[in-house]
Amino acid sequence: MGAQQVAERFTELYGARPEGVWAAPGRVNLIGEHTDYNDGFVMPFALPHQAVAAVSRRDDGLLRLHSADMEGGVVELRLDALAPGTDTAWTAYPAGVVWALREAGHELTGADVHLSSTVPAGAGLSSSAALEVVTALALNDLHGLDLPRWRLARLCQRAENVYVGAPTGIMDQTASACCEQGHALFLDTRDLSQRQIPFDLAAEGLRLLVVDTQVKHAHSGGEYGRRRAGCEKGAALLGVDALRDIPYDGLDAALGRLGDEEEVRRLVRHVVTENHRVERTIALLRSGDTRAIGPVLTEGHVSLRDDFRVSCPELDLVVDTALAHGALGARMTGGGFGGSAVVLTESAEVPSLTKALEEAFTAAEFTSPRVFEAVPSAGASRLL
Ligand code: ADP
Ligand code: MG
Repeated sequence: MGAQQVAERFTELYGARPEGVWAAPGRVNLIGEHTDYNDGFVMPFALPHQAVAAVSRRDDGLLRLHSADMEGGVVELRLDALAPGTDTAWTAYPAGVVWALREAGHELTGADVHLSSTVPAGAGLSSSAALEVVTALALNDLHGLDLPRWRLARLCQRAENVYVGAPTGIMDQTASACCEQGHALFLDTRDLSQRQIPFDLAAEGLRLLVVDTQVKHAHSGGEYGRRRAGCEKGAALLGVDALRDIPYDGLDAALGRLGDEEEVRRLVRHVVTENHRVERTIALLRSGDTRAIGPVLTEGHVSLRDDFRVSCPELDLVVDTALAHGALGARMTGGGFGGSAVVLTESAEVPSLTKALEEAFTAAEFTSPRVFEAVPSAGASRLL
């Protein structure tokens, strides 16, 4: 969706040109899954798919919201009445950001927002973070708040955790706010330190495919909470602040101390080995051995499937089919129980791989997956 088009629709809806237009992307996580609520490492990169928002300030305490992608007209909310848990519609994401900014002491007097997004919703590609970050960046710029990107990401996370009520980590919002074109973002979720890691697959004749299974299994919310609680229990039993504090070479000893806590032991093993996989991925990319990250991605999938147990038949089918048809590596990405997988492959293999995936899904009587190439793209920015 072009910036001009979004601005024009804004003008039709609200009767005046917007003060500006901003964009914030969705993301895909290359490696580092279910580590971000364990103070661990993640490595997402931004997609070319983005939420674009046209925004103007108001001075009468009203927030008016409209999405080109949703049924229904403009939704009007009073800033004073914004409260966590009161909104179960899409509007909770941008309204939650306004609430979080005001709660943090920033004086906002109202806004008109029209947005449109090309990030597939519910596919594990963070359409929610794209909505939050585009709103936060627009208000930051219009009100001259001058907040650093990491701080905007934190406020967006607070909007999602508290206002929307989804207990997610800091990765999605940071990726949308901070990623750079041609790079993956190494993020230490403990201190929020970041490093941009050059990640230009096309230059090496490689591609990373995103395969959106278009399924979302209904129990995902409760299962996420259960994994999270299990990780916290593991940290408590091991006497550390977070599982991040268990070093990879101390894993066996830690597992030995968990006695008959079988489920906790599996969760701990995933988190500790996954942090190590992020570090291995960075080392391989730095040494120019990009193809060698394939098996690390696949190992990550096996760990999520067998130890963390958040995969599902559709995601396993993507990974198994891709590997059987020459992919260098593949893994589910995002929280699991549906959503998307990523596949690292030689460029020349893309057509035959895509065909094999389609055939495998048809044979299994699953809905056809959406396959697209993920090009590491820019983080949030002002367009107009
Ligand atoms: P994900 O972030 O993985 O896409 P979430 O469940 O976290 O999945 O967020 C999806 C929700 O975000 C949707 O149900 C909807 O409320 C909101 N959303 C996403 N895209 C849009 C859009 N274009 N317009 C309005 N709301 C959207
Ligand atoms: Mg989300």
